[in-house]
Amino acid sequence: MEPDKNGFFGQYGGAYIPEILYKVVHDLQNQYKQILESKEFQDEYYSLLKDYVGRPSPLYYASRMSKKYGCKIYLKREDLNHTGAHKINNTIGQILMARKMGKTRIIAETGAGQHGVATATVCALFNMECEIFMGKTDVERQHTNVERMRMLGAKVHPVTTGNMTLSDACTAAIRDWCCHPETTFYIVGSTMGPHPYPDIVARLQSVISKELKWQLKEKTGKDYPDYLVACVGGGSNAAGTVYHYLNDSRVKIVLAEAGGHGVDTDYTAATIHCGTEGIVHGSRTLVMQTDDGQIKEAFTISAGLDYPGIGPMHAYLAKTGREKVVAINDDEAIRAGYELTRMEGIIPAIESAHAVAALSKVQLKPDDVVVLTVSGRGDKDIETYLKNKEMAGDYGKF
Ligand SMILES: *Cc1c(COP(=O)(O)O)cnc(C)c1O
Repeated sequence: MEPDKNGFFGQYGGAYIPEILYKVVHDLQNQYKQILESKEFQDEYYSLLKDYVGRPSPLYYASRMSKKYGCKIYLKREDLNHTGAHKINNTIGQILMARKMGKTRIIAETGAGQHGVATATVCALFNMECEIFMGKTDVERQHTNVERMRMLGAKVHPVTTGNMTLSDACTAAIRDWCCHPETTFYIVGSTMGPHPYPDIVARLQSVISKELKWQLKEKTGKDYPDYLVACVGGGSNAAGTVYHYLNDSRVKIVLAEAGGHGVDTDYTAATIHCGTEGIVHGSRTLVMQTDDGQIKEAFTISAGLDYPGIGPMHAYLAKTGREKVVAINDDEAIRAGYELTRMEGIIPAIESAHAVAALSKVQLKPDDVVVLTVSGRGDKDIETYLKNKEMAGDYGKF
């Protein structure tokens, strides 16, 4: 799925940027495909994915879950990557691009801190200056990740504007970029932002579905599943999961966005259900906003899905019906996280638990092959799981 030459997926996408960024964004637009497709880049990228990240990530047949849901469930284990999630697939690629373009300083935004950690990690690896923008609220509630970033050598800037969460961190990062466009590369954490970022991030995460093709062939005899299931915040792990299957109509796609307390309440992050068309952080997409265009705060138990926008590619694929998007509420996600923990011995990130909960929203048949991407591990979420164990039914009685 490629955007058109102006970065649009249907009516969504584009590059709505302040004039001062025109040159740096145009340079990136003009060079990114050539860099990503070059042999030099590919050799370096795949060798790091293999030896540093630990790819390919396993495709694991979850037999107890399969029995429960009456189908064949395979888990794509992005939680086993170095730093514990899919984010590193993207940051490794973008820092290689930054080097090719002669940049010396890296900036990034982060919400839960996973993208900040993945960025600080590759900056340590390549000895690059690293500054991370993070809402002050998130700095306080995701303290371990802040300490990891600092230990890795990054400077963490607490952002005190707006609601002091991810959306404000994005705004602060863009503002910093405006002040240092020549020296600085902005490593964007998801399939969002101005063109070409949504396309760059989707291509870098597409290694997930590239591996799925041969892993499924090996395990099931067919190189495609009947269903792909993933969670969606900005949309990067989902984009990587579906990338090489979008034109294959045999493959149905189910994505889980964060319903928070419910799509009919004010406490939700379900942008595809509740958003309307608008412009946020450089692209035209679905946004949760008030009638006069003020961006609303997103609400969910999962800090990694806590974003009032959605990548333009998914806005388009959801609108056209290619992707079915279900909203999963906090209590459903917690219960699903406990379920995967007790049935397969895998504690998923709360983000990933949203994808697990989506299984019960689909009519599955015994022969259906379902691939579910476990985007990250749940170590960072143990406190939240324990605090909310009453939501987990029998699994929470301990
Ligand atoms: C950041 C994050 C997400 C959400 O980001 P996407 O770009 O939508 O993939 C999901 N799961 C985990 C574990 C994350 O760290």
